[in-house]
Amino acid sequence: MLLFSPLSLGPKVAKNRIVRLPTISNLGEKSAVSEAMIAHVGRVARGGVGTVVTEGMAVHPSSVRGERLVAAFRTESVPGLQRLGDIVHREGALCVAQLLHGGRQHHSSRALPLLWAPSAVACDYSGGVPHEISRDEIDDLVKGFVAAATNVMAAGLDGVELHGAQGYLLQQFMSPLSNRREDEYGGSFENRMRFPLRVLAAVREAMGSNGIVGYRLGVDEFTSGGLTIEDSCRAAEMLSATGQIDYFSLSQGNFTSIETHLPDRHQAPGSFTEMHARVKRHVGTTPTMTCGRFVDAAMAEQVLAAGQADMIGLSRALTADPDWPCKSAGELAGDITPCIACNQCWISSTTGEKIRCVVNPAAGNEMSSPPPVSLMHQRVLVIGGGPAGLEAARTAAERGASVTLMEAGERLGGRLLAATNWPFQKELGDYVSYLVRQVERGGVDIRLKSPATAEGLAAMAVGATILAVGAHPVAPAIASDGSIEILTGDTIAAPAGKAVIVVDEDGHNWSAAAAEFLAVGGCDVTVVTPFFEPFREISSVSRAHVLAVLDRHSVRIVPNTRLVSVQHGGAVLQNKFSGREEIARAAAIYWIGSLQSRNELANALRAPRADVHVIGDAVAPRRLVDAIAEGRRAGILATTDRA
Ligand code: ADP
Repeated sequence: MLLFSPLSLGPKVAKNRIVRLPTISNLGEKSAVSEAMIAHVGRVARGGVGTVVTEGMAVHPSSVRGERLVAAFRTESVPGLQRLGDIVHREGALCVAQLLHGGRQHHSSRALPLLWAPSAVACDYSGGVPHEISRDEIDDLVKGFVAAATNVMAAGLDGVELHGAQGYLLQQFMSPLSNRREDEYGGSFENRMRFPLRVLAAVREAMGSNGIVGYRLGVDEFTSGGLTIEDSCRAAEMLSATGQIDYFSLSQGNFTSIETHLPDRHQAPGSFTEMHARVKRHVGTTPTMTCGRFVDAAMAEQVLAAGQADMIGLSRALTADPDWPCKSAGELAGDITPCIACNQCWISSTTGEKIRCVVNPAAGNEMSSPPPVSLMHQRVLVIGGGPAGLEAARTAAERGASVTLMEAGERLGGRLLAATNWPFQKELGDYVSYLVRQVERGGVDIRLKSPATAEGLAAMAVGATILAVGAHPVAPAIASDGSIEILTGDTIAAPAGKAVIVVDEDGHNWSAAAAEFLAVGGCDVTVVTPFFEPFREISSVSRAHVLAVLDRHSVRIVPNTRLVSVQHGGAVLQNKFSGREEIARAAAIYWIGSLQSRNELANALRAPRADVHVIGDAVAPRRLVDAIAEGRRAGILATTDRA
């Protein structure tokens, strides 16, 4: 396969064409590389990737936010960088440090005391007017890039990648949207290119010919008045004509079109590949990298074989399963934990928390390895075949236990099965299939249509018991004369043409997916939520997609509001703060919120037995991330000797 063939990147050779894209982990400490970051990056490298591009590292004091981002421009960062490079090299991969300055873009108004940008133009995502930097400050920034590159080389890494995409500082200079300068750095295209070209030349000079210089170039800002694909082709030509770039990593969007950074379930895998291929035609023989939710090696191979790119960049796929490369090479594609494109990892990157992955609880926790397998607890009974139970069964079986899985229903998958029939939720179905495949391959004794009862369990000779019986929806406690049907179950129908209300007490994917399902199905939808905003816990990148779909279908959103009663065919909506009421007519109300844990079995079993683990929604109704993390933990605990 081309994917597993080597590729020259300037003075170095990557062992294959798979690249770990820069992925913020927030594992840095005191603005330097930490042990946790080394363990995280090392784990990714161990999975067989050819090149690791580190997460963005600060090039100047004006781009240091908090203490979690590595300040590469400080000489104190060298020892940590060196250890990071060493662990990657030990796995036979190249290690390239990404150099980043965010400019006017940020995620929190408290992120930085002062934003530096080419012009005093606020970003409409970040807010806050930046400081228009002077020529002296521009000179200082160039020095910062050089200092960072020099440190990276001193640490023995293979090179640097300049972040000139996604609306960050270098692109802010290039874009007429953010660059309104009247000096030699603004105005004409050539002038707007001056700063990126200056940085590139200075960095290349500092690095000499021994290090890789990559450039992350944005292909389209998808923002009115911003850079277009034509502009980017021209920029690519200018940049590659310098002869100073060893590869281009292509990306798209800025903070206004933030949903294009991390295409989620609303966008087909590889949505931007054609665009990236177009830019490739303007850079001669310089290798290019594409990205955009590549799901498997077959898809990657097709793109390489078609000459649309020379490398495939993966971020989320490797967070979900660092072994993606080696499993693909070993034809174990069915064993790859699939990324569900929920963008939970993006949430943690933007809030400053350490990286978190719904389907891979080990991500960001690589320092703690599971305890050794017990010799005593080799029989494990799992009750409930939802995601929590499946992950527990999968883990216990992987650790060598003899596992029995009892599921009351006819199919495995739990509540997730309902969502998989809704629009834009295919990946959840793929994830269920993966979990089912894993428990089957792990030799788990799967018993469908087998509801467990306390009496039945008492009669079974089992080792550890894991209760993953989930939760069920409960009717909301509101006064209703019954004139509008209130539905709380997961299985919903879309009565086309009818007015329906979705109550979002969930704040997450359930209510978003239900609202989309109903709107796409032709209903006249009103979303009512007690929160400041609907679907508030979904990542910003995914929420943008949801809100776009709902807006296209003229869905009305009523925030800060409770549905308090139903009378004479009208729903009474009450503003939480003012108390003002309005009546909304509807044929049905879909109430997404109140769930109650199924705790009967736990109550019956806990007292007589110590080795009972209750996990997932059965503990309290929460998120998929909790179900999987607790499933993994229970699968480990159930097969570990108790101290
Ligand atoms: P979680 O997200 O915690 O895994 P789900 O609600 O998705 O929760 O899944 C729980 C699963 O447990 C469902 O498939 C349900 O049919 C099953 N279940 C509930 N009660 C029992 C029981 N007593 N015996 C076996 N399976 C059960």
